[in-house]
Amino acid sequence: MVPPGETIGILGGGQLGRMLALAAAQLGYRVHIFAPEQDAIAADVCARFTHARWDDAPALAEFAADCAVVTYEFENVPVAPLKALDPAQLQPGLRALEVAQDRLSEKRFVEGLGGKTAPFMAIDTREDLDQALIRIGAPGILKTRREGYDGKGQWRIMADHDADAISLSGQPLLYEGFVHFAHEFSVILCRGHDGTVVFWDSAENIHKGGILDTSCLPAPPQVLAQVPAARELAARVAMSLGYVGVLALEFFATAEGPVFNEMAPRVHNSGHWSIEGALTSQFENHVRAICGLPLGHTRLTAPRVEMRNLIGDEAHDWDKILADPANHLHLYGKAAARPGRKMGHVTRLTLA
Ligand code: AMP
Repeated sequence: MVPPGETIGILGGGQLGRMLALAAAQLGYRVHIFAPEQDAIAADVCARFTHARWDDAPALAEFAADCAVVTYEFENVPVAPLKALDPAQLQPGLRALEVAQDRLSEKRFVEGLGGKTAPFMAIDTREDLDQALIRIGAPGILKTRREGYDGKGQWRIMADHDADAISLSGQPLLYEGFVHFAHEFSVILCRGHDGTVVFWDSAENIHKGGILDTSCLPAPPQVLAQVPAARELAARVAMSLGYVGVLALEFFATAEGPVFNEMAPRVHNSGHWSIEGALTSQFENHVRAICGLPLGHTRLTAPRVEMRNLIGDEAHDWDKILADPANHLHLYGKAAARPGRKMGHVTRLTLA
C-alpha cells in the first residue's frame, strides 16, 4: 500500500495527467510528472516536473527514485526505457502498454480472449493492401498500427480505386473492414490490487471527424443490452493482463452484438463525465487502485449526464458555458487553441 503523503509519478504531461494529479492531491499525495514537452499542462498542478526525453535513462531513474508508484497517462510512452524500472513500481504494468500500443497486437489479444473485432489484416506493402481489398473488401479503413489517435493516421477506402491514391510510407499499417454500427460506447473499469473490478455506467460516445464530441448517459437501450457482454470481455482483458488501475475498451454496438474497436490502458476521455457524474471519478479510482487503497462506488449521481469536449476555439466560449449554472467547466490550461485540439470539457448533470 502507498499511503497518502507519498509521491505518485505520472509518465505524460497532458490533460489526463493533470486530472489524475488533481485527484491525487485530493487524497493527500504529491505528484511528480515526467514528460518530454516543456509546456506540459499537468506540470502546472503538480509538486515536481521532470522535463526529459523518454529515453533519458538517468532522468528516468532519478524520477523513479522519487516516486512510490509510477503510472502513465499516455499509451505511447516507449516501452524499452521503462524496462529499467522495478516492475512492481509501474501500475498498470508494461504488458498492457505493449499490447495497447499496436492496433494489430491489441486486436489479436482481444480476439484471443473471445472478443469480436472488425475483419483486419496487417499491411506492410502494396501487395498486402491489394490482398486485403480482395479478402476484406471496401469500404474499410487503413490505420497506422502505432501512434494514431483522434482519427489521425487513418484513411477511409470507400471503393478499391481509393487505395491507388494512398502512398504507403513504409510504416506498419492495419486495414480493417468498415463496421456498420448503430452506436459507439465504451466500457471503463477499474481493477484493484486484490482483483476487485468496478465498472462505470457505459456512455454512448458520439464522434465528429474521428474525435470524441460527446459522451451521454444513460446510453440508449441497444447499447445497454450489449453492455454485459462488453463488460465480461473487458474484465477478461484486465484479468489476463494482471491489470491494476483504470482500463477503457471502445465498442461498436451492431446487430451482431458488441464489436471491439480499441483499448486504452489509462483513464479515458469518455470517462471525464465521472468527475461530477459518478460517486467516485475514474481519476480518483485510478489513484486508489495504483496505491492499493479500496475502490470507491461508481454509481451515477444524476439520472442524466452529458460530457462535451471543447475542441479548438470552442473553449473561448467559457463565459457563455458558465452562464448556465448546470454546467461544470474544465479547462486544461493549453496555450494555443489549434483546430482539433482538446482544450477542455463541460459536464452537465440533469437532476430531474
Ligand atoms: P479509432 O481511432 O480507431 O478509435 O477511430 C476513430 C473513429 O473512427 C471511431 O470512433 C469510429 O467512429 C470510426 N471508426 C474507426 N474504425 C472503424 C471501423 N472499422 N468501422 C467504422 N468506423 C470506424
